[in-house]
Amino acid sequence: MATETEPMASEPTNPAAATGDPLVVLENVNKHFGPLHVLQDINLSVRTGEVVVVIGPSGSGKSTLCRTINRLEPIDSGTITVSGEVLPEEGKGLARLRSEVGMVFQSFNLFAHKTILENVMLGPIKVRKEKSAVVRERAMALLTRVGVANQADKYPAQLSGGQQQRVAIARALAMQPKVMLFDEPTSALDPEMINEVLDVMTSLAGDGMTMIVVTHEMGFARRAANRVVFMADGQIVEQNTPEEFFTNPQSERAQDFLSKIL
Ligand code: ADP
Ligand code: MG
Repeated sequence: MATETEPMASEPTNPAAATGDPLVVLENVNKHFGPLHVLQDINLSVRTGEVVVVIGPSGSGKSTLCRTINRLEPIDSGTITVSGEVLPEEGKGLARLRSEVGMVFQSFNLFAHKTILENVMLGPIKVRKEKSAVVRERAMALLTRVGVANQADKYPAQLSGGQQQRVAIARALAMQPKVMLFDEPTSALDPEMINEVLDVMTSLAGDGMTMIVVTHEMGFARRAANRVVFMADGQIVEQNTPEEFFTNPQSERAQDFLSKIL
């Protein structure tokens, strides 16, 4: 992505995002952990091609929100649909829908005893039963895209944290997901490695990938997000374009949060 100027924060990275169909829709989603009402009546609709950054204080329910979207956590009430299909509780339908939702965590979770290339090839071969030759070609193209093709035959421990996280992104993309979820993907990285991961994510956003990104990287939010969703205490308190949100937060909670991190 060679752009001369930084895209304006108020303009969607991907114009299609303004018109895309709803891809991930949460309606009146509630979840408790014992007495803790961790998700309170969450309503959120993410359109095809849209990049939504979720921010908010620690403990506000951001990770839980991500985990419910591919049913790593069950919900108590409400519905979650991906591509118009309600997420089932279990069974084959769940495996298929889950494979449409790629997820990248703070910890990279690569398989230590498999090479980088094997890590990326594993899902499509084991879960999707795709042919090895086809998957290999796609995996190498993805490793090239995230800038680590020359590390394909190494093992995760031989790579830096930033490289490992880029492999984790390639591994998620290898499943050809419809939407990518990122939960604080740069929080565990040394500062000098953060940008190499954010650059890959920015490029992905520019290519039209639908993304839900939990991050405190405000530069990324301004550069790549169509919308910022601010969560506190299990609720979506406000949402807006990055420009509006950062310059003119409406709620006291958001003002307070921004005053601490900006
Ligand atoms: P965030 O990602 O915004 O920091 P989380 O979604 O991780 O927030 O957590 C929201 C709240 O739910 C926190 O109070 C946390 O301690 C609690 N929580 C998260 N996971 C569990 C769990 N598996 N069991 C009990 N409480 C949990
Ligand atoms: Mg979290």
